[in-house]
Amino acid sequence: MTFSILIVDDEPDNFDVIEAFLSSDDYHLHYVESGEKALATLPIQQPDLILMDVMMPGIDGLALCKQIKAMSLWQSVPIIMVTALASKHTLAQCLEAGADDFVSKPINRMELTARVRSMLRIRQQYQQLNSFNAQLEAKVAQRTAELQTLLYQDSLTQLPSRINLLERVGLLQAEQRTDFALAYLDCDQFKLVNGAFGYTVGNQLLQAIAERLQQHLRPGDVLARVGEDEFCFLLTALPPDFSLPTWIEAVLQSFHAPFQTSHCEIFMTACLGLALGDSTTTDPEALLQAADTAMYRAKRQGKGCHQWFNPQLHAATLHRLTLENDLQHALSYGELVVYYQPIICLATHRVMGLEALVRWQHPERGLVPPGEFIPCLEETGLVVRAGLVVLRQACQQLRDWHEQGWTTLTVAVNLSVRQFASPTLLADIDQVLAETGANPAYLKLEITESAIMENAEAASVLMDALRERRIQISIDDFGTGYSSLGYLHRFPLDVLKIDRSFVRDMHRSHRNYQVVETIITLSNQLDLAVVAEGIETQDQLQALKKLGCELGQGFFFAKPAPAEAITTTLRNQPLGPVPQPAVRAQG
Ligand code: C2E
Ligand code: CA
Ligand code: CA
Repeated sequence: MTFSILIVDDEPDNFDVIEAFLSSDDYHLHYVESGEKALATLPIQQPDLILMDVMMPGIDGLALCKQIKAMSLWQSVPIIMVTALASKHTLAQCLEAGADDFVSKPINRMELTARVRSMLRIRQQYQQLNSFNAQLEAKVAQRTAELQTLLYQDSLTQLPSRINLLERVGLLQAEQRTDFALAYLDCDQFKLVNGAFGYTVGNQLLQAIAERLQQHLRPGDVLARVGEDEFCFLLTALPPDFSLPTWIEAVLQSFHAPFQTSHCEIFMTACLGLALGDSTTTDPEALLQAADTAMYRAKRQGKGCHQWFNPQLHAATLHRLTLENDLQHALSYGELVVYYQPIICLATHRVMGLEALVRWQHPERGLVPPGEFIPCLEETGLVVRAGLVVLRQACQQLRDWHEQGWTTLTVAVNLSVRQFASPTLLADIDQVLAETGANPAYLKLEITESAIMENAEAASVLMDALRERRIQISIDDFGTGYSSLGYLHRFPLDVLKIDRSFVRDMHRSHRNYQVVETIITLSNQLDLAVVAEGIETQDQLQALKKLGCELGQGFFFAKPAPAEAITTTLRNQPLGPVPQPAVRAQG
C-alpha cells in the first residue's frame, strides 16, 4: 500500500531533504510551496499525511493547519508541523492549531521517518475503523429496510400488511374523510385445506386467492393480508353513486370458480364483513375491528355470506366475549351446579328417574339457565369440560341415592353434539364411573337426533361401546330433528323423549296429537321406553295416558331442583309397589 504525503514548504530545498529521507516505494510525495496551493490540491491529492512548514508567506502553517482541521473532509488527515522554532510556545501553538505532531529543523532522518510512520499507522487504523463503521451502517440500513418490508408487506402474497393498512386508514380518518369502506374477508374452513393438503398447497391457495381478489381493486384501493386466511379491502374515494352491494356480489362471485394449486383445484368460499368510514372515529383499529365483527357475524350465517357492521352487532360480540371469559372462570371456580327434574311414572306418579340439568351459579346474576350459556359453551368447545363436570356430579349423586336405598332410580345426563363427537368421551365416562362408583346400568345419556346424524357411522360405534358398558341411550327432543324414523332400528337405543313442543300443543293441534301418537306407537314397536317432556297440565297428562305413554316429566309434577330437594321428594313418595324402571333387556 502506498501513502500519499503532501509537503507544504515555501523553500524547495527543504522538500529535497525530506524527499531524500523518505525515498521509499511506500510513499508518494507531492510538493506545494504555499498554503493556498495546499488547499487547492487537497481534493486532487487526497493525502494520507501532511507535512507543513510553520513559517510561510501568505497563509502560514498555523493558519493552514487550523483551516484544514476545520474541514470535515480533511480533519482526520494527520498533520506534522516542521519548525525551526522548537520553543515550548511554538509547540503549544501548533497543538492548538490542531497539529498531530511536529518535527524540528534541521530535520533528522530517524526522527522524521519514525514520526511519519507512526502517524500513518494511526491514519490506517482510523481508516479501517471508518470502513468497518460504514459497513456496519450499511448492514443496519439494509436490515432496517428488510424489517420495514416485513412489517409493511406480507411476504407470502406481497400484499400490504395489517400495519400498512391501519396506517392508511389512519390517514383517511385524520382528513375526516367518510368516503371509504373496509371489507374484511375471511375464507371459510381454510384450516381444512392445510390439514388435508399441507401448508405448501395452503400457501399456494392463499396466493391464488390474493391474485383473484386484486382484480376487484380500483385505482387507489388497497388489498391487505391481515391474518392467515384473512384479507381486507380498503375502498377509497367512493363516489356517491358507487354500488357497494354490486361490488360485494362480484367479490363473493369470484369464489365460484376453483383455485388452481400445483396439487389440485380447490373450491373455497369466503365471508365478508363491511364497515363504512365515519368521521366520528379516529381509531383505525376500531374500524378494522368493526369490519371484523361484521365478518364474524356473517360467518355465523353460513358460508359465502356478508354482513354490515352496526353498533348493536358490536355490543353482541362484546357480550359474547365477556360471557366466554366468565364461563372460563365459572369452570375454574366450580360455579356450574346440577339441578334434577323428576321423570315420573304417569300411572303411579312415582319418581322413576331424574334428568340432570346444568345451572350456572353466577356470583352477580344468580342462577343462570342453560339456554343462556350452553350455546356459548358449544361454540368455544368448553362444553366438553362443562359436560364432564355435570356428568361427575350426576354420577356422584346417582351413587348417593342408590346407597340411600333408591336402588332403581336412574339419572339422565344431556350430551351436546360437540361432547358426543369428542374423541375422549368414552375415556372420560370410564374415568367418572371409576371415580364415583356409580352403576352404569342406571345412567342414561340423552343425545339429540342431530348428534347421531352428523356422523352416523361413528355414532353407531360409540353407542355400541356405551351399550357394552350397560349405559342407556335416550334420543332427546325427538321429532324436531331429522324426523326420518327409518334409521332408528339401526342404533342400540333405549328411550325416546317426545319434545316439549308437541306435548304443549297436542290438545289443540291435531297434527301434534298425531305426532305424539305415532312416536308412542313407534317406540312400542321398537321396544323403546317413551318419556313425554314438558307436561304442564292435567289435560296433557290425560291425553298422554290415553295414548299409552308410560313416563313423563314437566312442571305439572316438578320443576328442576337441587339434589337435597329431590331427596325430600323421594322420601315423601306415595307408597305402593315400585314399578320396574324402563330398562331394556340386555343382549
Ligand atoms: P332439554 O334436554 O330438552 O331439557 C328439558 C328442558 O325443559 C329443561 O330446561 C327443563 O327445565 C325444561 N322443562 C321441563 N319441564 C318443563 C315444563 O313443563 N315446561 C317448560 N316450559 N319447560 C320444562 P333447562 O334446564 O333450561 O335446559 C334447557 C336445555 O339445555 C336442555 O333441554 C338441554 O338441551 C340443555 N342442557 C341442560 N343441561 C345440560 C347439560 O348438562 N349438558 C348439555 N349438553 N345440555 C344441557
Ligand atoms: Ca334432555
Ligand atoms: Ca328435550
